[in-house]
Amino acid sequence: MRLHAPPDLEIDPGPAHRLVGQGAVLLDVREPGEWALGAPDGASLIALGDLEAAATRLPPPETPVLAICASGRRSAQAVQWLRAAGWSAARSVAGGFERWRAEGLPWAPRSTLDADARERYARHLLLPEVGESGQLRLLRSRVLLVGAGGLGSPAALYLAAAGVGSLRIVDPDVIERSNLQRQILHRDAGVGLPKAASAREALLALNPRLSVDAVQARVDVGNVGSLVADADVVLDGTDNFAARYLLDAACQAASKPLVYGAIHRFEGQVSVFGGADASPCYRCLFPDPPAVRDAPDCAAAGVLGVLPGIVGSLQAAETIKLLLGIGVPLRGRLLHVDARGMTFRELRVPRDPSCPGCGPPSLRRPPLGLGSLCTPR
Ligand SMILES: [Zn+2]
Repeated sequence: MRLHAPPDLEIDPGPAHRLVGQGAVLLDVREPGEWALGAPDGASLIALGDLEAAATRLPPPETPVLAICASGRRSAQAVQWLRAAGWSAARSVAGGFERWRAEGLPWAPRSTLDADARERYARHLLLPEVGESGQLRLLRSRVLLVGAGGLGSPAALYLAAAGVGSLRIVDPDVIERSNLQRQILHRDAGVGLPKAASAREALLALNPRLSVDAVQARVDVGNVGSLVADADVVLDGTDNFAARYLLDAACQAASKPLVYGAIHRFEGQVSVFGGADASPCYRCLFPDPPAVRDAPDCAAAGVLGVLPGIVGSLQAAETIKLLLGIGVPLRGRLLHVDARGMTFRELRVPRDPSCPGCGPPSLRRPPLGLGSLCTPR
């Protein structure tokens, strides 16, 4: 059905669905992680960034091609490219898959990995505990990483490599040369640039098929609720107590697991708080922050550069286990590592029935010294 004049750039989902029934090709230009969650019936997947390279998989130019994405923005870009490349009848589905679903048009979850994903995650697919369903689960998962510093760097790189489909990385700072001794997401050429954007660039260079959201902001009472809300797991890569207590409270309120990590000179700690019944929270362990003089940060106390690499990697491992629902999480346990003797000790962390963070409402109070900072509601 070759048209004589180029048709409108957009088409509504209903007419698009009818045209597909008449032989038009529905081309989903979203990322595989989004596709795995669900896609319109009859659609085939070529991500926007792969269009040019995958042009041989496109139908002949006389075939009407209807591009669809999540909301209609990427598909409009796809149509621009398609029309310039000879598919003059290409159109973009207005409102994308969101509107397609809202209008009750047929769609289904996709349960297969494409060739790139099969190759990329081949070593995961060999593990019966992960396999195809686990890998799809990772691709559909959302992790909030707070901090693109020493802990956030290795954690984010491993989560991206593992195919955690949506990463949001929050950091207010810019890269300083003194960060490069341990913050391996960043490069010398990036000194002076925002860490969040630098992290996004590094993660997409490692795995371009992910969705990585860079937020250059400090986590505060005003934004923590919405940042935590759509995450499956929250990874604490912060370097200050105010942010840590705030995150703990927000994760408590939203019943999200918080993968905690902390470092000091040659020592580190890892644990998992919340996200399950009877799980302790951070304040079961540390009811109130220490006095400032007792808790110097890396800038004041120094830290062995590789130490956050060890602790952040452990946090990534806990995060992946939580997302997959495999193994035994470090819940109710605190792993302490001392790099000087390379000793790992495990301490039991019981839930405190009178915890000011997760105890009965009558006992709850903001952490001493941090005022109302840590009661986001
Ligand atoms: Zn508690």
